[in-house]
Amino acid sequence: MKFLILGAGPAGLAMGMELKNRGEDSFLILEKEAEAGGLCRSETVDGAQQDLGGGHFLDARPSRGQSFLFRYMPKEEWNYFERDSKIMVKGHLIGSPIEAHIWQLPTAEQVEYLKSIARAGANLDTPMPENFVDWIYWKLGERIAEDYMIPYNTKMFGKYLNDLGTYWLYKLPTVSFEDTLLSCLERRMYGSQPAHTCFYYPKRYGFGEVFRRMAQELSDKIEYGVDLKELDCENRSVNGQYQADIVINTIPWTEWTGLRNAPDEIHKAVGELKYTSLQVRYFGWTNQDQKTHWTYFPDLEIEYHREFYRSNFLLGSKGGYYETNTDRICSEHTDDWRYVNKYAYPCNTVKKPQAIKEILSFMESRRIFGIGRWGEWEHLNADRVVEHALDLAGRLL
Ligand SMILES: Cc1cc2nc3c(=O)[nH]c(=O)nc-3n(C[C@H](O)[C@H](O)[C@H](O)COP(=O)(O)OP(=O)(O)OC[C@H]3O[C@@H](n4cnc5c(N)ncnc54)[C@H](O)[C@@H]3O)c2cc1C
Repeated sequence: MKFLILGAGPAGLAMGMELKNRGEDSFLILEKEAEAGGLCRSETVDGAQQDLGGGHFLDARPSRGQSFLFRYMPKEEWNYFERDSKIMVKGHLIGSPIEAHIWQLPTAEQVEYLKSIARAGANLDTPMPENFVDWIYWKLGERIAEDYMIPYNTKMFGKYLNDLGTYWLYKLPTVSFEDTLLSCLERRMYGSQPAHTCFYYPKRYGFGEVFRRMAQELSDKIEYGVDLKELDCENRSVNGQYQADIVINTIPWTEWTGLRNAPDEIHKAVGELKYTSLQVRYFGWTNQDQKTHWTYFPDLEIEYHREFYRSNFLLGSKGGYYETNTDRICSEHTDDWRYVNKYAYPCNTVKKPQAIKEILSFMESRRIFGIGRWGEWEHLNADRVVEHALDLAGRLL
C-alpha cells in the first residue's frame, strides 16, 4: 500500500481521516490495543465515561485542530467551561496558577513570597540557567520553587527531574514582582493565564468519544491487536509483515526493539528518549464544591499529584480520579478502578532536541515520518497533534 500509519491515537486517526477525506484509499492503520484513541480513550466506570489517560479537555481557543474535531463531534455536543483549578500549598487551597493567587495566602506568607520573587534571578537580570531546577529558582524565586514547583515536578517527572532542560518553558507564564505586588494589594489575579483557561468537555461522553467516532468511520482501515516491534528502515516494512511506500510513525520510537538498517547513532538517539508513566485511579466520592475541575497536590507525602472532580465537568456523573506517576505508587488500592498509561509524558531532557532531530531527519530520508506526541516526542495536546497530522497529509499528497 501507499501509506502505513502506525498507532491509532489522535495522530494516527487524524492522519487516516485526512487521507480518506482527500480521496486516498491506499492506507492501513496498525494499533496494538483493541480500541483506537490512545491516551484519549474513555470507558464506562461507575456509571459514566472515564478518561483512561487522565484529565483531558479541548482547548476553547479556536484552532484548525478544534474545527477538525468538531466535524466528528459537533460543538453542540460539548459543554464550555471556564477553568477552575486549585493548588493545595502548605495546607492552603488557593487558585492556580500560583503566582497569580499569592494574594489568597495569609498576609505573612504573601510577604515571604514577594520577597523571594524580588530576589529571583529573572528579576535581577542574571543569566538564564540551562537546567529546569535552576531555572525554577531563577524565574519564580525560592518560595514558589520550594513550596510548589520543585515538589510538584518531582512528583510528575521523578528520576528525570534533574535531566530536564528549559527550552520548553515558553508555555509557563512570566512572573513579575510588580504584577505580583499589585495582585496582593488589590486582592485579584494578575498576569497571563495558563493553557486551557477555557475548555470544552463532551456533554454526555468522555473525551474519547470524538476519537471513537473517527475510528468508526475508519473501521475497514484499522487492524487492532498488532504489537509493533520491528521496523526495517531500508524497505519500510514493519513486523516483517507489512510494507508501504511511506510510513507514518506515531508510536513511541522506544517501542522499536527491532530497529533494522539504522546506524548506531540512531539507536543511541532513541536511547536518549525518556518518558514517564501515569496511573489513573478512580474514586467514588463527589466534590461538594460545584465548580472546581481539578486540584494540584505538591505535598510529597501524598502519592498522587492531581485530583480531578469528574462530576464538575461531565455533568450528571459522580466521583473523580487521581493521577500518579507510577514510580510513586506505594499503596495497593486493589478495589479501585485503575488504568496505567505506560507512555504519558515525553520528557524534555537537555539531550532530547538533538536526539529527536537526528531520528526524524534520518527517518525522513527513508520516507518514514514521525508525528504526534511520540513521533515528535513533544508535550503536544490532542488538537495540536491533529494539526500536525493535517499538515503532514497535505505535504505527502
Ligand atoms: C495526563 C495527560 C493529560 C493530558 N491532557 C490533555 C488535555 O487536557 N487536552 C489535550 O488536548 N490533550 C491532553 N493530553 C495530550 C493527549 O493525550 C495527546 O496529545 C494525544 O493523545 C496524542 O495523540 P498521539 O496519537 O500522538 O499519541 P497517543 O494518544 O499516545 O497514541 C499512540 C497510539 O499508538 C499505539 N501504540 C503504542 N505502542 C504501540 C505498539 N508497539 N504497537 C502498536 N501500537 C502502539 C497506542 O496504543 C496508541 O493508540 C494529555 C496527556 C496526558 C498524559
